[in-house]
Amino acid sequence: MEVLLSEEQIQQRIRELGAQITKDYAGKDLTIVAVLKGSFLFVADLVRHIHLPMEIEFLGVSSYGERTHTSGVVKFTQDLSQPVNDKDVLFVEDIVDTGLTMKYLLDNFATRMPKSVKVCSLLYKPSNCKVHVDIHYLGFTIEDHFVIGYGLDLAEKYRNLPYIGYVVK
Ligand code: 5GP
Repeated sequence: MEVLLSEEQIQQRIRELGAQITKDYAGKDLTIVAVLKGSFLFVADLVRHIHLPMEIEFLGVSSYGERTHTSGVVKFTQDLSQPVNDKDVLFVEDIVDTGLTMKYLLDNFATRMPKSVKVCSLLYKPSNCKVHVDIHYLGFTIEDHFVIGYGLDLAEKYRNLPYIGYVVK
């Protein structure tokens, strides 16, 4: 396996993202919506660098179809525990690949009447983009690799790696 982003690189970038989010959301009614399962490590580290009162919600999603190809049809495996109307929602995602999952979530959340909605994603893979999604807070843009680690899985394994890598064929 090739290491793409080391633990140090990831943690440094998260500190920067946390500082920016802290600045931008001061005085707002922030609700972090973590998109599970892939964002569980990212969100846990990120929120410790956001120095504001906030609520944290978890949304479980999985896409139908082959594991390594997003079909665009999203299945909710867990919904929020609180409504988000009038909240400043910040989605926290592991990776935006085709953009279909995030687009689906943004469309779905538009009906829930939040005050604002923004997206924070650790990774963006532009090579596979099918629909454009504005990523307001982005960790890293990466090349076209199927990456694993730091929350991202390969057939549900390797999520616990503290770094991000890809399998060299
Ligand atoms: P999208 O709908 O943008 O194509 O993909 C969203 C989801 O597909 C991500 O949240 C993630 O679960 C999965 N995914 C996309 N690319 C990768 C990848 O390189 N590695 C892993 N492990 N999952 C990926």
